[in-house]
Amino acid sequence: MRLVVASGKGGTGKTLVATSLALMARERAQSLQAPTALLDADVEAPNVALFLRAELEEAVAVERLVPRVDQALCTHCGRCAEVCQFHAIASLPLKTLVFDALCHGCGSCALECPAGAISEEPQPMGQVRFGQAEGLRYGEGELQVGEAMATPVIRALKHEARSRGWDSDALTIIDSPPGTACPVIEALRGADVALLVTEPTPFGLHDLRLAVQVARDVLGLPVAVAINRDDGQDGAVDAYCEAEHLPVLLRLPLAREIASSYSNGEPLVTALPQYRATFAVALDALLALATEARP
Ligand code: SF4
Ligand code: SF4
Repeated sequence: MRLVVASGKGGTGKTLVATSLALMARERAQSLQAPTALLDADVEAPNVALFLRAELEEAVAVERLVPRVDQALCTHCGRCAEVCQFHAIASLPLKTLVFDALCHGCGSCALECPAGAISEEPQPMGQVRFGQAEGLRYGEGELQVGEAMATPVIRALKHEARSRGWDSDALTIIDSPPGTACPVIEALRGADVALLVTEPTPFGLHDLRLAVQVARDVLGLPVAVAINRDDGQDGAVDAYCEAEHLPVLLRLPLAREIASSYSNGEPLVTALPQYRATFAVALDALLALATEARP
């Protein structure tokens, strides 16, 4: 089963929630004698390893194939520029140019070139790493500095985890990147349930709406909500969840001790064990929601 922890905006406490859920899931997995895996798919800023003191044992390079044009063979027919959906190749009267930063490595231009003038060159764009953390199977992706496309690294992280047989685990928890763009869709794809973390502010509500549109309305996933830093002052997120029939399965208060444990790099359920039951109940409810939604 795959649970993705996501949020419409950064800074809502997504990693705080994902790490504590994973630690509670580890205990459940011990009794089921089935492992739990945690994947940090926030590849532009992976930080789960800092909280869980991860020990990384192996790394796999992530590359994409970018086109290289043999100008001597190129007839400047323009076919490559026509087929490129990303405007990453331009055919000019005297030269055909490739803009590496825009290229998604889809291979269409090489396939379509009638002159056979395009070859493909592997270009590093990041890494995925695997190991263990606090008794969990742990994987993370990291996008190389200067690279713009996180999606292939997230896809590689999920693919490598699957090829290690981690999909047959009792549970895989994925800490998604924030937002609602392509990297988030890649993190959510194939999930059994999504937990959307938000905060009770107008910004939090605005971005929660967008995240619900992506996870529930576009991808068709069962969705639940976690409200972090709840000071009881703003009921708009609760009202929205009620109107949309979205269960609020986790609620954390605005509390200095929580902020302090986070800034010290300690998982919440380790630093403040009084929250263990809150996370255990939320985990059970999430698994039940995913099970109910299964065809
Ligand atoms: S499709 Fe091939 S021959 Fe045509 S412009 Fe592109 S590289 Fe040149
Ligand atoms: S590989 Fe795909 S994205 Fe890159 S230039 Fe060719 S057609 Fe465009």
